[in-house]
Amino acid sequence: MFNNLSEKLDKALHVLKGHGSITEVNVAETLKEVRRALLDADVNFKIAKEFTNTVKEKALGQNVLTTLQPGQLMVKLVKDELTELMGGDVEDIDLSGNPSVILMSGLQGSGKTTFSGKLANYLKNKKTKKPLLVACDVYRPAAVDQLHVVGDQINVEVYSDKGNTDPVAIAKAGIAHAKANGHNVVIIDTAGRLAVDEAMMTEISNIRDAIQPQEILFVVDAMTGQDAVNTAKAFNDVLNFDGVILTKLDGDTRGGAAISIKSVVNKPIKFIGTGEKMEAIDVFYPSRMADRILG
Ligand code: GDP
Repeated sequence: MFNNLSEKLDKALHVLKGHGSITEVNVAETLKEVRRALLDADVNFKIAKEFTNTVKEKALGQNVLTTLQPGQLMVKLVKDELTELMGGDVEDIDLSGNPSVILMSGLQGSGKTTFSGKLANYLKNKKTKKPLLVACDVYRPAAVDQLHVVGDQINVEVYSDKGNTDPVAIAKAGIAHAKANGHNVVIIDTAGRLAVDEAMMTEISNIRDAIQPQEILFVVDAMTGQDAVNTAKAFNDVLNFDGVILTKLDGDTRGGAAISIKSVVNKPIKFIGTGEKMEAIDVFYPSRMADRILG
C-alpha cells in the first residue's frame, strides 16, 4: 500500500525530469497526488491543503528534485510531517491517582462501552492494575447490562445502581466502592446521545466537576469521517478532554479523521479500537497511522 503513493510520486517527478523543466510548479503538481491521498483518507480539505503547503516548502528546501528517487524522498517527507502532525510520540494515560479515575465520553454508538471494557482488560493485563467499571448510563438499562456482559467476559467487576437516576451519585458511589475494595483504576462509562446535545454535555460536565477525573477520554468512531471532527470539537469545548480514542479502525476507513481531529482539538490520540473483541485495542502509533493514511 505504502509503495503506491511513492511510485506515483516517483513517476510524476521522473516524467517532469524528462522534460528538463522542474520547477516549483511541478512540485506543487506532484503534491496534488499527496493531497488526493489525504482527501481519499477523509482528511479535512483545509488541513490537507495546509499540510501540502508545508511539505512543499520543505521539499523545495531539501532539493528533492536533484535526488535519484525524488518520489521516495517526498514520501518520507510527507510521512515524517504526517507523523509529527498526529503528535509524534505515543501518549500514555495518567494512572497516578489512587484510584485513578478515567471518565469516558462520546456519542452513543461510538464504542464507549466496548472500549471501557477493552481498557479495563488492557490495564489489568499489561499494567497489573485492578480496575473497576462503573455504569453511569441512567437512560438505557441495556447499556448497563452491556457493561456487565463486558465485565464478565474480562473478569472485571462492574459497579451499577439500576434504580438510581442520578449519574453523579452513581459515579461518586462507584469511586467510594473502588476505594473500599482496593481497585486502583475506575473507568466510568457515561450515557451518550445520537448527536451532540446540551443535556448530555451538562450531565457529563457535572460528573466531571463532581469526581475530578485524572483522565477524560473522548471516544469517536473513525468511520464517521468529517463528523468525527465536529463531534470532537463540541466535546472538547465543553470538557477539555485529555485524549482521543479512535474506534472501528478495522473497517474500511483509512483513518484520516486522526489527522483532522488532532489538528482541530490539538489533543493526543491515545488508543485505537480495531474490532469488537476485548483484545482489539492498540496504543496509537502516529507513524503507523501515517502509513495507513498514505495508503
Ligand atoms: P457506545 O454506545 O458508545 O457505548 O458503543 P458500544 O460500545 O455499544 O459500541 C457500538 C457498536 O460498535 C457495538 O456493536 C460494538 O461491538 C461496536 N464496536 C465498538 N468498538 C469497535 C471497533 O473497534 N471495531 C468494530 N468493528 N466494532 C466496534
